[in-house]
Amino acid sequence: MIIVPRVGIGYDSHRFGPGGPMRLGGIDIPAEFHCAGHSDGDAICHAVTDAILGAAALGDIGQLFPDTDPANKGKDSTVMLLAAMDRIVSAGLRVGNVDVTVITQLPKIGPHREAIRVRLAELLAVDVSAVFVKGKTNEGMGWIGRGEGLAVMCTATLIPR
Ligand SMILES: [Zn+2]
Repeated sequence: MIIVPRVGIGYDSHRFGPGGPMRLGGIDIPAEFHCAGHSDGDAICHAVTDAILGAAALGDIGQLFPDTDPANKGKDSTVMLLAAMDRIVSAGLRVGNVDVTVITQLPKIGPHREAIRVRLAELLAVDVSAVFVKGKTNEGMGWIGRGEGLAVMCTATLIPR
């Protein structure tokens, strides 16, 4: 039987606020600034959550965790990702792989790549070989180039359990 994976895409962006560390991919990265947001601002977890929910056609992170809900203030984004995982598992699916690109001038993602991969693999219940994370600068252009914030893109595949 040929298994056709379901493909999802996720995108997120956050403005930087003063003071670190920066929560990204479920780990704390030393930085002079952090991703401001209603939750903990973890843009990688948000993009991954949207990618897997999208692949399953089970909604999006804003529907599951409205930023108008005071209960979501300062929320640990790994909790949101795990809630999305529960939905995917209930739908008879599991993660095939995820591929993440972080677009930011700072902090450098490379030195933290492996730690983020390990953490995401744990959250997504996959082998670390099924998770990849890349950092890109925006070549100094625009709001990302000026260091006003960062953006994250993610693709994910889901396969039957
Ligand atoms: Zn976000």
